[in-house]
Amino acid sequence: MNASLTPGQTKVEQVKLLIDGQWVESKTSEWRDVVNPATQQVLARVPFATAEEVDAAIAAGQRAFKTWRDTPIGARMRIMLKLQALIREHSKRIAVVLSAEQGKTIADAEGDIFRGLEVVEHACSIGSLQMGEFAENVAGGVDTYTLRQPIGVCAGITPFNFPAMIPLWMFPMAIVCGNTFVLKPSEQDPLSTMMLVELALEAGVPAGVLNVVHGGKQVVDALCTHTDIKAISFVGSTEVGTHVYNLAGQHGKRVQSMMGAKNHAVVLPDANRTQTLNALVGAGFGAAGQRCMATSVAVLVGKAREWLPDLKALAANLKVNAGSEPGTDVGPLISKRAKERVLGLIESGIKEGAKLELDGRDVSVPGFEQGNFVGPTLFSGVTTDMQIYTQEIFGPVLVVLEVDTLDEAIALVNRNPFGNGTGLFTQSGAAARKFQNEIDVGQVGINIPIPVPVPYFSFTGSRGSKLGDLGPYGKQVVQFYTQTKTVTSRWFDDDSVNDGVNTTISLR
Ligand code: NAD
Repeated sequence: MNASLTPGQTKVEQVKLLIDGQWVESKTSEWRDVVNPATQQVLARVPFATAEEVDAAIAAGQRAFKTWRDTPIGARMRIMLKLQALIREHSKRIAVVLSAEQGKTIADAEGDIFRGLEVVEHACSIGSLQMGEFAENVAGGVDTYTLRQPIGVCAGITPFNFPAMIPLWMFPMAIVCGNTFVLKPSEQDPLSTMMLVELALEAGVPAGVLNVVHGGKQVVDALCTHTDIKAISFVGSTEVGTHVYNLAGQHGKRVQSMMGAKNHAVVLPDANRTQTLNALVGAGFGAAGQRCMATSVAVLVGKAREWLPDLKALAANLKVNAGSEPGTDVGPLISKRAKERVLGLIESGIKEGAKLELDGRDVSVPGFEQGNFVGPTLFSGVTTDMQIYTQEIFGPVLVVLEVDTLDEAIALVNRNPFGNGTGLFTQSGAAARKFQNEIDVGQVGINIPIPVPVPYFSFTGSRGSKLGDLGPYGKQVVQFYTQTKTVTSRWFDDDSVNDGVNTTISLR
């Protein structure tokens, strides 16, 4: 099937839908090319599924739920054990396709897969994760216990920037809890996601338990409004995530919506200078800034202002090239449209009076002249009213602001509309403790630039970065994908027991 497409392959194949365990060729008339962002080579064509195809995928999930929900925990867990082994085995092969369709370096593509693999490994602990609670003798001879039951057909909508990790945040945990799933991968780079779905089938996920539809707004809206979908997991931009949260919420669904970011790194002058500068540059420009946890704002506090020239020199040293090439630090942006948008924002920064310290607009990559490249770009003298500060750029652009104190830095971060990730760089435990306490941001790194939580914790976010109470993976996602039922029970072993009629609410 097309998911095994390799970058050198010339035949353009059509990405299939997965409905009820069958790979289905879509009957749609609307198709979109999946394009290698470094070369513009068309790797495949992806369908925008019809309404009937979306309905068929949900119906398959609904049918499969009847038996899957009662499949023993051990059987579900063993499928996840097999899946993690298969992902490990095929990781390098998937990374090549991921890098070709998304643009990131091979090493970063392997990291993308690995961070998802960790969630599958965690799904193997479902035996203890999905346990209920038990209280004996809540009244005379009465016990109360809870069951964590699956909720039905769930759906996941994923972004382009992590085509392995984010689908793996979703379907393994939903399925291992006993739900069935309809996945809608990013239409920009669905090939590596489909390879993971293939492995899920190989691991033993039964027909109808995992279904895949492709498309854009129409398909997403159909999932958000369909009566038989019980929960929606969304990861993507704040604009779309807010729409999904509202629409699916109005239709009575549980929703977790993980959205955009503007991540500040606050640098105190007592920080380890070399390590901090390395961290800022790696997290600012790695994956061409197309990470929800990228550092996009550096806040230099007090004398740390003097580090700007070193920051600039380090960023200027990064190698811009195709993700497939050895030694690449910064690959291309996902699309020509994304590049235009980033260039427009750089232009706005210049117009609005920021100082362009490092200009990545005219970068040219020999052998990849058609690639959507933007080189590392650094602005200083940035103020909070500029578009390069207020908007998520999602490109290799780091903006530098300067303040005098940690208090000012904390207030600045907390005023920003986004609250996804942040970092503090310091050698002071007291400053770090104050920061972690007062900052209103979901993921906090202390001398850690990209503090993505490991899967036994949950991903989170504040303000414009997250809607919904419960985040992906960890314990929270088990709550998200299950319904708690409490059972209060009493058993009689003697027919002569007679407590009399009790007309009160109390248990005796
Ligand atoms: P996007 O919002 O454009 O697309 C996300 C998904 O929504 C895709 O599957 C897409 O097909 C669908 N979609 C697009 N337009 C839609 C519309 N009008 N109505 C309904 N659905 C629509 O996001 P993207 O560009 O693919 O991904 C980048 C964004 O994702 C960034 O904002 C990034 O910060 C965010 N992100 C957040 C996290 C997080 O955990 N907070 C993680 C990764 C990425």
